[in-house]
Amino acid sequence: MVYDLIVVGSGPAGLAAAIYAQRAGLSFVVLEKEYVSGGQVLNTHEVDNYPGLPGIGGFELGMKLREHAEQLGAEFITIEVRHIETEDEGRIKVLYTDGEEYRARTVILAMGARYRKLGVPGEEQLAGMGVSYCATCDGAFFKGRKVAVVGGGDVAVEDALFLAKGCEKVYLIHRRDSLRAAAILQKKLRECENVEILWDTEVTRVLGEEHVEGVWLKNKKDSSERMLDLDGVFIAVGMVPETGIITKLLQIDKDGYIVAGEDGVTSRPGIFAAGDIRTKQLRQIVTAAADGANAVASVQDYLIRE
Ligand code: NAP
Repeated sequence: MVYDLIVVGSGPAGLAAAIYAQRAGLSFVVLEKEYVSGGQVLNTHEVDNYPGLPGIGGFELGMKLREHAEQLGAEFITIEVRHIETEDEGRIKVLYTDGEEYRARTVILAMGARYRKLGVPGEEQLAGMGVSYCATCDGAFFKGRKVAVVGGGDVAVEDALFLAKGCEKVYLIHRRDSLRAAAILQKKLRECENVEILWDTEVTRVLGEEHVEGVWLKNKKDSSERMLDLDGVFIAVGMVPETGIITKLLQIDKDGYIVAGEDGVTSRPGIFAAGDIRTKQLRQIVTAAADGANAVASVQDYLIRE
């Protein structure tokens, strides 16, 4: 079978694309890697900027988006796409998995992004043993303990705020002397008595044998070094786009994002990109959902003209 469209990924961009594709009457399927839809939203404790749903839990929002697409009749298959090729002079896109092959005239890539690693000794060895990339997933294990969050963006500050509710002490370790997180989050952080910010500081090593016992710190201003005792370290230093399956197929920018505008049009006809995976100014749930809708409009346009 050759579908009109295959959507790869089921975060807000992929789910919005499914909703719009179903309403447009396209034959399509959503291929999702995980058994639970929602993507990064699932790791968000509370979403306070999705219009109309103030304070909704990330998991609940992910479920609602999935339910919406399913109620309309969208089909989902849990399978990992390994790579994509084209045939029939580019008209047919073939998506290879470990078993089945899937064919479609168009594809919307909505695989999002994954956690960036710090890349320091001890990080990989102690992952899951005190090193975590998801405070809302693992924070409960550190109730009453001492932890650190590394990073200075929205995620790092949100994680620190979340952890401060249950942990005895939270250090926010940031490599510069100002945070890039939204002002409203920074204000909340300043009001937290058990949060201490370590400015101009880098983690150079995660310490511990069977579990995290601390981190080794370097002050970037005076080059001084010291150990900080900790029970856990949460790494929130941004995301890396999930473009592994298409690196040779499409133009990507220096940071690895697929070059595509608001219409989702990529360097290859019939392949569109939506959400965090594409070059864009603002990576938010609301902009990812908008991308899904725009990409379907571009798909329809392409199918008419093809
Ligand atoms: P981000 O905004 O890119 O911030 C990453 C942070 O990590 C920066 O402070 C950066 O430092 C630091 N960093 C990067 N590499 C590092 C390294 N190797 N060592 C130490 N520090 C490093 O990423 P994010 O916080 O994950 O957010 C991703 C996107 O989601 C953003 O667009 C954000 O606005 C959005 N988001 C929004 C909300 C919300 O609106 N509620 C919530 C979550 C996420 P520098 O500052 O020095 O570059």
